[in-house]
Amino acid sequence: MSGGARTVVEFDAVSKTYPGGVAAVRDVSLRIEQGELVAIVGPSGSGKSSMLNLMGSLDRPSAGRVFVDGHDVASLSDREVSALRATRIGFVFQQFHLAVGVPVLDSVADGLLYAGVPMRRRRAKASAALERVGLSHRVHHLPHQLSGGERQRVAVARAVVGGPSVLLADEPTGNLDSTSGAAVLTLLRELNAAGTTVVVITHDREIAAELPRRIEMRDGRLVTDLAQSTTIGAPR
Ligand code: ADP
Ligand code: MG
Repeated sequence: MSGGARTVVEFDAVSKTYPGGVAAVRDVSLRIEQGELVAIVGPSGSGKSSMLNLMGSLDRPSAGRVFVDGHDVASLSDREVSALRATRIGFVFQQFHLAVGVPVLDSVADGLLYAGVPMRRRRAKASAALERVGLSHRVHHLPHQLSGGERQRVAVARAVVGGPSVLLADEPTGNLDSTSGAAVLTLLRELNAAGTTVVVITHDREIAAELPRRIEMRDGRLVTDLAQSTTIGAPR
């Protein structure tokens, strides 16, 4: 990274233990700078989604501190956390999460509801976001009229329509055939090249190997962070 890059996500000795005692994230420290494209990899159950939920302030750590865009998430009220999430963070999930019966343009425009953008402006921005993901010809379609790959591109448009500081994607290609999956990955790379910070969880080692930084999780611990070219010591 060039000097002076802004830190978008910072974990300081973060742990997450769920009720019942599962230690999903253990003592993880890391920093993600503006403009990065980061893969989080690791076997099922290694804590990847828990990490992403913490980065996205969907969840709070049991120990340690999480900073998003410089804000210590623990110091914010629920209302402030909601606002942070609505304006600074874009999410994409494996299951698309598009509302049944809602046209594509409105689904994407709804991504701006909580940011308090007036409706006409929401529509205009949604239209621009759909153009960015190559779906200008599908704005009036309903979700069930789209292929899986197109649905995921709509979800990506919705996630970036507000110009978030970071786009968090949890197995975005998990429900797609390899061709559509590759197209979604290409889209994430294009968005990153245009300046969006992207963190993507994938269990696909081939996809991960192509990304500039790879964070590897094992049993809740960060075991490798390739951008730093270091291997963290064996679990205590
Ligand atoms: P991954 O995304 O790498 O598959 P997760 O972060 O989803 O891993 O899960 C890590 C561990 O935490 C797993 O053992 C999982 O069963 C557990 N876990 C995840 N979410 C919860 C939850 N809400 N309550 C209790 N345990 C959970
Ligand atoms: Mg997961």
